[in-house]
Amino acid sequence: MRLSVSHGLHSLSWTETRPGAHVARATLFYLAAQVEAGHGCPLSMTHAAVPALRASSPELAAEWEPLLTSREYDFGLRPAVEKRGALCGMAMTERQGGSDVRANTTTARPLGGGEYALDGAKWFCSAPMCDAFLVLAQAPGGLSCFLLPRVLPDGTRNGFHIQRLKDKLGDRSNASGEIELESAWASLVGEEGRGVRTIVEMVVHTRFDCVLGTAAAMRQAVEQATHHAAHRSAFGAVLADRPLMQSVLADLCLESEAATVTALRLARAYDRRGSDPREAAFARIATAVAKYWVCKRGPGHAAEALECLGGNGYVEESGLPRVYRQQPLQSIWEGSGNVVCLDVLRALAREPESLEALLDEIRLAGDPDLTAAAERAAAEADETRARVAVERLALALQASLLVRHAPPAVADAFRAARLGSDAGHAYGALPAGVDAAGIVERHRPTGISY
Ligand SMILES: Cc1cc2nc3c(=O)[nH]c(=O)nc-3n(C[C@H](O)[C@H](O)[C@H](O)COP(=O)(O)OP(=O)(O)OC[C@H]3O[C@@H](n4cnc5c(N)ncnc54)[C@H](O)[C@@H]3O)c2cc1C
Repeated sequence: MRLSVSHGLHSLSWTETRPGAHVARATLFYLAAQVEAGHGCPLSMTHAAVPALRASSPELAAEWEPLLTSREYDFGLRPAVEKRGALCGMAMTERQGGSDVRANTTTARPLGGGEYALDGAKWFCSAPMCDAFLVLAQAPGGLSCFLLPRVLPDGTRNGFHIQRLKDKLGDRSNASGEIELESAWASLVGEEGRGVRTIVEMVVHTRFDCVLGTAAAMRQAVEQATHHAAHRSAFGAVLADRPLMQSVLADLCLESEAATVTALRLARAYDRRGSDPREAAFARIATAVAKYWVCKRGPGHAAEALECLGGNGYVEESGLPRVYRQQPLQSIWEGSGNVVCLDVLRALAREPESLEALLDEIRLAGDPDLTAAAERAAAEADETRARVAVERLALALQASLLVRHAPPAVADAFRAARLGSDAGHAYGALPAGVDAAGIVERHRPTGISY
């Protein structure tokens, strides 16, 4: 946390005035997540809280932003005025539903002057050591968003009680708690009844970080798998030279490169969306499309990479079991697969300019077949087949980005493997004619010696 905070992985996008701050921050996050994925959660939430506060409550932003963007990791629960840096979490999910936050039953009783007392239970609240949380609760005017500090200005603890920590599948370096709020003092963010609209500005950024985190874990898995295969022999030959192993490794590399280029293109959209409506429209739909597809590909990718190491991959020392346990989280948190697909349908129906921006982006590859595939997918999208539509939009986008930003061998292989008819369904079932050895070599970490 100290290293990442000191390099602004939670804040660079908001403090750096040069163009490209989101891309730079995304790149650092991508690197750090490969070293330790769990600490990405509080970094991501703190990063995402800033634009939500800026958009809805300039006074609270003025008070909290200097702390939330500080490069100092000041651990420990103390009043905000005594801290040199602070972290922010979020508490939306309740027992009866995380996707459907409108079903929240936590209440917010007005105390006057924009202050409220919150009572209720939050079922999933990650990084509960944070200094503040954006919380949804039912105020007299409807579901509203609040900023709730852990410690009150007078130094006493707020009514925020950790009932239990979750015994999670993975992500164990990052605690997730069940929280009881008991007359917890909080300040309204934005207007009463506009809670979802307010917190959505936080959610889009954490959704983007799910894409980034998945791409990072894919890269970590590719590094391990390609390195191992380059140094392991079986049946008298180096594994990496075996054609079938080359197919598997190359396919893992293709997925990783497609995820990375997608994540970084999105980061550029976040850099420009404030001043360019087309980029804003692109970010709107592409965040949801990528959150679904990139995150959905994560667990299978980790499983296949792990298998490249044989039995050693199944053993904790390889590091890959940790990657394998982390990947499903990115798909569940901040909008599970179906919920994100429904969000894409909403964008298609209510914000047609977002589809236009996505198609414009795909058109830049100069391949009419890709644009036609995306247009067809959007036209056919309905609730039953939403996953099919979103998958096809994602693949067309990824293929178009690879055409523009990767060597032809990579772009051609991805297109043939993901959109052609000659490939199988498992990783490594590549169509004929792919330069697998060349693709693997592009991704294999070199210069490492143990
Ligand atoms: C490690 C971890 C950390 C988390 N940290 C936090 C946190 O800090 N703060 C926080 O607020 N929450 C947090 N969550 C909660 C998370 O955001 C929710 O679990 C998630 O939003 C899903 O909500 P749910 O668990 O209630 O599932 P449900 O909403 O019950 O959904 C169950 C399934 O039904 C699907 N579904 C829902 N609605 C529909 C529909 N209309 N049509 C079709 N399918 C549908 C969903 O996609 C999902 O697959 C965390 C979760 C995890 C795993």
